[in-house]
Amino acid sequence: MLETLSAEIIAIGSELLAPDRTDTNSLWLTEKLNSIGIEVKLKTIVGDDDARLEEAIRDATRRSKVVITTGGLGPTEDDVTRKVAARALGRRLSLDETILAELRQRFLSFGQVMPERNSRQAMVIEKAVVLPNPNGSAPGMFIEHEGVAIVLLPGPPREMRPMFENHVLPKLAGRAGSVKVVRRMLRVAGLGESAVDEKIAPIYTQYDNPQTTILFNQSEIEIHLTARGRTEVEANALLDRLSEQIEDRLGNAVFAFAGEKMEEIIGLKLTLGRYTLAVAESCTGGLIAQRLTEVPGSSKYFIEGAVTYSNDAKTRTLGVEPVLLLEHGAVSAPVAQAMAEGIRKRARTDYGLAVTGIAGPGGGSEEKPVGLVYIALSDDVHTEHRQLQIPGDRQLVRWRASQAALDLLRRRLI
Ligand code: ATP
Ligand code: MG
Repeated sequence: MLETLSAEIIAIGSELLAPDRTDTNSLWLTEKLNSIGIEVKLKTIVGDDDARLEEAIRDATRRSKVVITTGGLGPTEDDVTRKVAARALGRRLSLDETILAELRQRFLSFGQVMPERNSRQAMVIEKAVVLPNPNGSAPGMFIEHEGVAIVLLPGPPREMRPMFENHVLPKLAGRAGSVKVVRRMLRVAGLGESAVDEKIAPIYTQYDNPQTTILFNQSEIEIHLTARGRTEVEANALLDRLSEQIEDRLGNAVFAFAGEKMEEIIGLKLTLGRYTLAVAESCTGGLIAQRLTEVPGSSKYFIEGAVTYSNDAKTRTLGVEPVLLLEHGAVSAPVAQAMAEGIRKRARTDYGLAVTGIAGPGGGSEEKPVGLVYIALSDDVHTEHRQLQIPGDRQLVRWRASQAALDLLRRRLI
């Protein structure tokens, strides 16, 4: 087995322990560390608490060759990382006059006088390499301690990221040795989690390397592959071989090979074919249009989206015959088809895509239960539709309906 260097991340800040904030820094850092062959073995979140943080830093430096902290480098009383890290490592903390002068200058350049409390950001741990922070006031630190690299980074992502990329990554890349870790994510639509696993388990269980993890995410299955190699090329070759086998087994259900979203894949295919698209939505309330237009460059192919929630709007905007609505109801195959044709003609596009359904929790009946959704796709030759019975709450029904509609279009574009 190829051995990797092990790292751990300590995210510091009481706000990260509150219910409304997430530690996203460690996700970003993990990806970067993996790219140079360093594996994250443990993550800790610590509040602004001297004793707990000191313990966390001591434990981490005993276990791991690389320890990265983010947060708590600010000027306020609760920003304790510098002080506590110095104590945990048994090193002195002293004022660096150069940094202090730079800090004062930084404030002057904004027309302000530096508040005295900011001078604590000029305190440097003995023998630390100072990492400049052009995007904020708190410099970072890189410390070598008994064979362990300890890196103190600021909390705000827009300060932390460039500091890590410009000043830390190059230092760590050197010691990471020869093992590269490469990840890839395949996305699957239109198959359930157990169906996917049943099909591909016989394939991926043959390999220790790459490692395979299957995750269920809203209405998609994500297949995460992680490979190690002596070089990136070698690791990628392992990923190629396994992902080709998985694709052979799952066929068209795999819609992305590098983690792309459904709407990005649709955008790519529409752009390549120089096709245009318009969308008519009822129960998804604009979600499909929203997803499509999140993709940069979507104005090339996305022409129009209409949210026609009421029967009257379906008739007025899309030309759906009132008699269809009367005879079949708004949630029906004929109405979905008429919506798709109507929006296509109105917007003069190559494709018209439509959704109508019952998202719930109310509005269902025995004949038409919650989760019943019709999707339709129209081009100038024909209009096809699908009837779906989607499990889940309102939000899930809406999301899965949008996904199924986009998937119908994707399969037409193959
Ligand atoms: P500052 O000088 O801004 O105080 P700092 O290094 O002290 O910098 P914190 O005060 O800990 O950083 O965090 C500042 C902000 O950075 C937080 O409000 C939060 O928005 C963001 N942040 C901190 N840690 C993380 C994290 N692990 N993941 C994502 N965002 C974070
Ligand atoms: Mg702070």
